[in-house]
Amino acid sequence: MLNLVLFGPPGAGKGTQSEKLIDKYKLVHLSTGDLLRSEIKAGTELGLRAKSLMDQGLLVPDEVVIGMIDNKLKENKEAAGFIFDGFPRTVKQAEALDTLLEENGTAISAMVALEVEAEELTRRLLERGKTSGRPDDQNEELIRKRVQEYNDKTLPVANYYQNQGKYSSIYGIGAIEAIFEKICTAIERATI
Ligand code: ADP
Repeated sequence: MLNLVLFGPPGAGKGTQSEKLIDKYKLVHLSTGDLLRSEIKAGTELGLRAKSLMDQGLLVPDEVVIGMIDNKLKENKEAAGFIFDGFPRTVKQAEALDTLLEENGTAISAMVALEVEAEELTRRLLERGKTSGRPDDQNEELIRKRVQEYNDKTLPVANYYQNQGKYSSIYGIGAIEAIFEKICTAIERATI
């Protein structure tokens, strides 16, 4: 199985590159952001609770996203592999993911981090906010809060995978196709 973690701050291009990776490697896409937005759309209790945190640019509790990922792994037993996008966002989530994958007899193959400077992230997210309808992309203060949450809680996850020898970093500014090629090279290097 090929199990990838695509890592990087909001606006780094994880969603865009995920689509291309899914196509190439036939992976099941698991984006906790997308899963949370479907819960909100469906008006579930979980969605309601998550929305109030997401609207403040804060992370939702670890248990919530870990539970969602657990369900999705169980629903997709026959998958060729998974791409985790926007998850894990805390070290606790990373540890839980390792346990869940181990229970299924598999593991993370590689973690690829997209690196983009803060000013470019803000510019991209405000641009995306014009068309995505996502409230968290339409307010500069909220964007700053999300980047701060990333720096405080999510950056340590890079170290977690570095300690496992699974980490590679890719510069995320440039042509989408050129970045994609670099990601594929990193994956192939990590999995031979
Ligand atoms: P972005 O990468 O642009 O911030 P996402 O769609 O990944 O967008 O996430 C949107 C919001 O959903 C986050 O700001 C956070 O509130 C919540 N969220 C998504 N994934 C997680 C996660 N793994 N842990 C905690 N909160 C999450």
